[in-house]
Amino acid sequence: MSKVRFDRELIQRYGGRGPRYTSYPTAPQFHSGFGESHYVERAIRSNKPISDEDAAPPPLSLYLHLPFCRTLCYYCGCTKIITRNEDRAQRYLDVIQKEAALHSPLYDRSRQVEQLHLGGGSPTFYSDEQLGQLMETLRREFTFAPPEKLQCSIEVDPRTVAPERIESLAALGFNRLSLGVQDFDEEVQAAVNRLQSRDETLALLDAAREHGFKSVSVDLIYGLPKQTPEKFAATLETVIQARPDRISLYSYAHMPQLFKAQKLIDESELPDGGEKLALLELSIETLCNAGYEYIGMDHFALVDDELVKARESDHLHRNFQGYSTHAYCDLVSLGASAIGHVAHSFYQNEKNTNRYSEAVLAGRLPIVKGLRRDNDDILRDDVIQDLMCQGKVDFAAIENSFDIDFKAYFADELASLKPLAADGLVRIDDDAVYVTPTGQLLLRAVAMVFDRYLREPAPEQRYSKVI
Ligand code: SF4
Repeated sequence: MSKVRFDRELIQRYGGRGPRYTSYPTAPQFHSGFGESHYVERAIRSNKPISDEDAAPPPLSLYLHLPFCRTLCYYCGCTKIITRNEDRAQRYLDVIQKEAALHSPLYDRSRQVEQLHLGGGSPTFYSDEQLGQLMETLRREFTFAPPEKLQCSIEVDPRTVAPERIESLAALGFNRLSLGVQDFDEEVQAAVNRLQSRDETLALLDAAREHGFKSVSVDLIYGLPKQTPEKFAATLETVIQARPDRISLYSYAHMPQLFKAQKLIDESELPDGGEKLALLELSIETLCNAGYEYIGMDHFALVDDELVKARESDHLHRNFQGYSTHAYCDLVSLGASAIGHVAHSFYQNEKNTNRYSEAVLAGRLPIVKGLRRDNDDILRDDVIQDLMCQGKVDFAAIENSFDIDFKAYFADELASLKPLAADGLVRIDDDAVYVTPTGQLLLRAVAMVFDRYLREPAPEQRYSKVI
């Protein structure tokens, strides 16, 4: 069980900018020297077992990026397109299905898809009929695991989905959903241009339960304009009453120089650093008192949720969608800007939807960059995953997997951890490093010690603040 403790002074000291470690190496290390031919070689290689101990190649996980939204939320940092042009969205849907057909011949049909996630943007911009057509294509191009083994999730925008639609999503095979909420307060909603009724959102949660969805997740954001602890407490209370299985609590990172939409936010209405920390402290206390477990990095879940169970059995994994229970899958990602992970390599698609479509329609995979990991990358990824997911690194386990002497290999890192240990973020024993309850809120700062690439100076604005 993971406990978490809020320490204002340490958060202020260690909460500078840092990567979120949804991959290691992180996306800024991807380079244009890795392209379509490299991915094809890796994808074909992935059909063989990874090591002699594995009897079969890993199953597949599919991610599809569907970028269209009807209105702009001013805090948004996603790759999205705001439009009411249905034809444009349909053309993209046609292209992404063509992209699926370019990937599928590379993978043995015996490899089952155990996980599918539709993200965005707003996947529910599309009608049930359009999503049905998409699912049909995916089921034709890939072999899907039977329903009881398949995690099939979709991000739902409650402003565009009536509760009756949940039944259709269940009929299409979806069994997990995540709902964007951010804040129920009307003044905050107006300040970020996201007006969303509390009652309609809660009705969706009820409908999801009624139709047997196995996990429902709600996204909240703290640090938005006009938020106060009193008003955010009311949002938290409403969400807790509705009892979603998971709650993601993101810190709003105001970076208008990177995300144009954020220029529309009135900076004078943003909570200052101290107020933001008060919102975080309140949220952690409220959620933990209400029976939610802190998973790590913004994520909370009820004790019987798959994420908590995966954490307890050392099967939790961090990837581009946050935390996942499917560490062992190869991730095939489709759509503009999507990032995939296959056979120790990452690839990223073109972000611009016009250029993305042109490449696919010309029969090319729209990959513009990526990276093939070396042994040191794989080793450090294991260490960082252990810290982010299990809150500890067991030296013997790493030594067995990589044939190294942990203390010798990571002598510099262990020395760099000492000040963090002195401040109470980690405990260094003879056989392991443990993240303390205080360090749980500063996982990024601990993981950064093991990131070889941070020794090369990177532009500061690449990363949001740790908190
Ligand atoms: S926050 Fe979500 S719904 Fe809002 S504009 Fe961004 S992608 Fe679209």
